Amino acid sequence: NPIITIRNVTKYYNNGEVQTAALRKVNLEVYPGQSVALVGPSGCGKSTLLHLIAGIDSPSEGEIYVDGHPFHSLNEGKLARLRGSIIGIVFQFFNLLPTLSAIENVMLPALLQGVADSEASQRAKALLEEVGLSHRLCHYPHQLSGGEMQRVALARALIMKPKIILADEPTGNLDSETSQRVLSLIQKLVLEYHLTLLMVTHSLEVAKSTDRILNMKDGCLFC
Ligand code: ADP
Ligand code: ADP
Repeated sequence: NPIITIRNVTKYYNNGEVQTAALRKVNLEVYPGQSVALVGPSGCGKSTLLHLIAGIDSPSEGEIYVDGHPFHSLNEGKLARLRGSIIGIVFQFFNLLPTLSAIENVMLPALLQGVADSEASQRAKALLEEVGLSHRLCHYPHQLSGGEMQRVALARALIMKPKIILADEPTGNLDSETSQRVLSLIQKLVLEYHLTLLMVTHSLEVAKSTDRILNMKDGCLFC
C-alpha cells in the first residue's frame, strides 16, 4: 500500500480579492521506501504540496492519506500529533533554534512529544554520532558550519523515528561539496531506517540520485 496517497487535491490561497490555485487536481502515490524528488520552477506549488503532506496546511479539495490517516479530515491537534510521530522535516535554512545547543535542538521534538529527558538525550546522542557530530553536542548553531547545521537538523528530523522525511531544498544553502556529503548522508539514513523520502530540489543532479522524479508546473504534477 502507498504510504502517501493524494487524490484530486486542489489548494487555493486567497490574496485579497484574488484566488490563486497553488495546486490543481494533484494525484500521487508514494510507496514505502521510495526516494522521490519534486522539481519545478519557483511558485509552481512544491512547498504547498509538502505542507499538505506534513499536515501543516489543509487542501481546499481532495483527499490526502498519510500512513493510512485521512489528513484532509483531521483537526489540528490530531495532525500535530501524527506529524510529530510519522514525519520528519528538513528545511533549506536548517531552522535550528539559535539559543539551544546541537543536542538540545535534536532533543526538542521528543521532549515536546512527551518522551522522557533521559531517553530523548540518549536518542539525540546516538543520532548525532550517526551523522558524525559526536564532537559537536554542546556547540550552538552559530558555532557550526552549514553542513554541520544540516546534519543536526537531520538528526532532529529522525528523533521521533519517523517513516517519512520531507525535505525542502535540503542542500539549497550549501556549497556543492557539502551538498554532496549531506545528500549521501540523507541516502544512507533513508536506507538504514527504511524511510520514505520526498525532497524538493532545484538541482537536476540531486533529483537524479532519487528513485523517481516528479515534475511540477503551475500547480500540476507530471510523473
Ligand atoms: P514553490 O514551493 O514551488 O516555490 P509554493 O508552493 O510556495 O511554490 O507557491 C505556490 C503558489 O501559491 C505561488 O503562486 C505562491 O505565491 C502561492 N502561495 C504560497 N503560499 C501562500 C500563502 N500562504 N498565501 C498566499 N499565497 C501563497
Ligand atoms: P562541513 O564540511 O561539515 O560544512 P566545515 O569544514 O565547513 O564543515 O567546518 C568545520 C568546522 O570549522 C565547523 O565546526 C565550524 O565550526 C568551523 N568553521 C567553519 N567555518 C568557520 C568560520 N568562518 N569561523 C569559525 N569557525 C568556522
